[in-house]
Amino acid sequence: MPKWSNWSGRLTSKPDRYAQIYSEQQAAALAAYCSQNDKVLRTVGAGHSHQDLVGNDGVIADLVGLAGVISADADSAWIWGGSRIHTLGLALHQSGLALPNQGDIDQQTIAGATATGTHGTGATLSNLSSRVIGSQIALADGRLVTCTASSDDPLERELWQASRLHLGAFGIITRLHLALVPSYRLQERTWQAPLLATLEDLQSLVDDNRHCEFFWYPHTDTAQVKVINPTNADPAYPLGDEGSRRGWNFEVLPNHRPHLHTEMEYSVPAEHGPDCMRAIKTLLEKKFPDVRWPVEYRTLAADDVWLSTAYDRATVTISVHQAVAEPDEPYYRACEEIFLEFGGKPHWGKANYLSGGQLAALHPRWEDWWRVRDLVDPKGVFLNPYMRSIRP
Ligand SMILES: Cc1cc2nc3c(=O)[nH]c(=O)nc-3n(C[C@H](O)[C@H](O)[C@H](O)COP(=O)(O)OP(=O)(O)OC[C@H]3O[C@@H](n4cnc5c(N)ncnc54)[C@H](O)[C@@H]3O)c2cc1C
Repeated sequence: MPKWSNWSGRLTSKPDRYAQIYSEQQAAALAAYCSQNDKVLRTVGAGHSHQDLVGNDGVIADLVGLAGVISADADSAWIWGGSRIHTLGLALHQSGLALPNQGDIDQQTIAGATATGTHGTGATLSNLSSRVIGSQIALADGRLVTCTASSDDPLERELWQASRLHLGAFGIITRLHLALVPSYRLQERTWQAPLLATLEDLQSLVDDNRHCEFFWYPHTDTAQVKVINPTNADPAYPLGDEGSRRGWNFEVLPNHRPHLHTEMEYSVPAEHGPDCMRAIKTLLEKKFPDVRWPVEYRTLAADDVWLSTAYDRATVTISVHQAVAEPDEPYYRACEEIFLEFGGKPHWGKANYLSGGQLAALHPRWEDWWRVRDLVDPKGVFLNPYMRSIRP
């Protein structure tokens, strides 16, 4: 029996079968087989989620062979769903294109990243799911459907809208059509400053820089601030360490994060970000003297993606971390209480302890999302135990 575990090793699963996928026909046939044989089917990306979105006792599909850029035009590209983000930068750049933003790392697959609303930092920059303008999906009935914002069929239009942030629950996403921007060069700068002074000055930092973020190290006064801005200067090779790089977007945005950890992240309305950060600082000082892992503060623009944490509101994202070998639940539950008081919504790929009812109350399009999902997968082939636990 194959054994699967996620990036941190915290989540494990023993599916009946681990299926490596090399063609869309194979993906569609596998979906139909699982439906006919009442097996759960979940697709894995890079396994970087901390929430149990993949584990099940049926089948795990891995799009190992569906990777790369399929076609590109002036401002968009069709990309295979199994593409790791780090393989896309140069390929898109050769067509003069780029992702408008990326997360902290670039090891995720593109379909895995859009599944959970993966984002970077930047008050004018929305998450990766919001860039999805079309998808091709292998559905539970064995059909391969292309859905876009301009599909003639109203169900296909809704399928596109709902599945931009898909949680792996609609089918196997074999291709994605992404809205892109002309490729661009970036200059990064980093410095240390007292946390409370940083929070006081934060609005101007956020307004004046394309990307702005900081890490705060608990039980110190220090924030490590980073800003990144467009530049016309040539890349400076070899690139320096994180914090001093000047190069193409895909060379400067990602970082190397080798230390295994778990993570909780909530998006709170942008105006509450500094107060929420202060409350997390107080919590750590009063109740968690042993936690040393940094707290990360980023900004994220509003979007219209149904299950996005930034749906219809500009947000600040605050992430708390803990070493894999250390207990994290008491710390995360205490943080979660604070995040919820500030109107927070949890990142779909990171730890949270919310019930389906609580998630429904946070997401105005929750019922719509499930209605469309259930239409294309009435038997729940693409629902694993976690997804069933939050189903309305
Ligand atoms: C070190 C580290 C750094 C991170 N940095 C950030 C960050 O900066 N910003 C941020 O927002 N998040 C970040 N994350 C979270 C991460 O981006 C998300 O959890 C993302 O969803 C992981 O992508 P993945 O390819 O590993 O997908 P997985 O975790 O393998 O899967 C995620 C979901 O996608 C589904 N899925 C994957 N591929 C397909 C497909 N082809 N068809 C259908 N469903 C599919 C899965 O079923 C699952 O529901 C980070 C995580 C780690 C471990």
